[in-house]
Amino acid sequence: MVTGGAGFIGSHLVDALLEKGHLVTVIDNYSTGNLENLAHQKDNVNLTIVKEDISHLDKIKAHFKGIDVVFHIAALADIVPSIVNPSIYYNSNVIGTMCVAEASRLAGVDRLVYAASSSCYGIPDVYPTAETAPIKPQYPYALTKYLGEETILHWGQVYKLPVISLRLFNVYGPRSRTSGTYGAVFGVFLAQKLNNKPFTVVGDGTQTRDFVYVTDAVNAFLMAAESTCDQETMNVGSGNTYSINYLTKLLGGDIVHIPKRPGEPDRTHAHIAKIKRILGWVPKVAFEEGVKTILDKIEYWRSAPVWTPEKIREATKEWFQYLSK
Ligand code: UDP
Repeated sequence: MVTGGAGFIGSHLVDALLEKGHLVTVIDNYSTGNLENLAHQKDNVNLTIVKEDISHLDKIKAHFKGIDVVFHIAALADIVPSIVNPSIYYNSNVIGTMCVAEASRLAGVDRLVYAASSSCYGIPDVYPTAETAPIKPQYPYALTKYLGEETILHWGQVYKLPVISLRLFNVYGPRSRTSGTYGAVFGVFLAQKLNNKPFTVVGDGTQTRDFVYVTDAVNAFLMAAESTCDQETMNVGSGNTYSINYLTKLLGGDIVHIPKRPGEPDRTHAHIAKIKRILGWVPKVAFEEGVKTILDKIEYWRSAPVWTPEKIREATKEWFQYLSK
């Protein structure tokens, strides 16, 4: 079972599972996911797609019967809408996660793997950041993803449901989201490149992110599903960190600077010793190689919104309004 299987990471996980010969059920409400992401699998008899909202336990629970492993990827992402409308984030990311945990328990699944977020570390004091770092969510998205993690670990503890939580750093790759809200940098920059608009670089562009390629993240999910470890939280990152200036250099194009946002870390950098040790997972795709692959598929972002500094200023006004010190 892949919740959020029509989304960016979920659809890549579905591909990998089908490739391995598994029977896969997807639950997705297409709120940010898109059936197009699974269009190439439409004739695959091993794939069942259920259009449903994960926060409706009564509607989803029947679909968990006979499932061995649940990968819970469905969530609302993005920072600004979580600040503007926190209740829908609680509904999807906290209540929805509880419903997935509960449906998993009721069906007696063997294992639940949760897609957690490295945003729980907020602005860390130590780099690379290990799983033991303090939890400091900076906005409702980060908080709700962390509460989701606590929920699945609690279900594991009380109901003896084997659970693993993977704290994803900045996952990028083909099919990274194109929907309306202002969000992850790759979608923003690729649509700008296609439309000959300058890349909107936040601040001076020296801030860095631990970008991890989507197929590497998918391998972490597969290895977590096959492992026997339980009640573990593990970082999934490249173990490297790359500046936004370097990203714009690899993508190629003009740049324009936009103001730095409150609450954003200057750096994210995953400590990945734990997942290497426990799962034997190692990231395989170099950043330069991943960016090249995504550039080869840039046409995907043809329908994505094109962000200009003015539109970004309007779309992020609540971010500055609420989070400025
Ligand atoms: N970023 C940028 N221009 C944009 C959007 C993002 O320079 O139009 C930068 C942002 O400052 C951050 C990085 O890209 O350093 C990743 O941003 P994203 O929102 O993808 O992820 P997060 O900040 O949550 O790690």
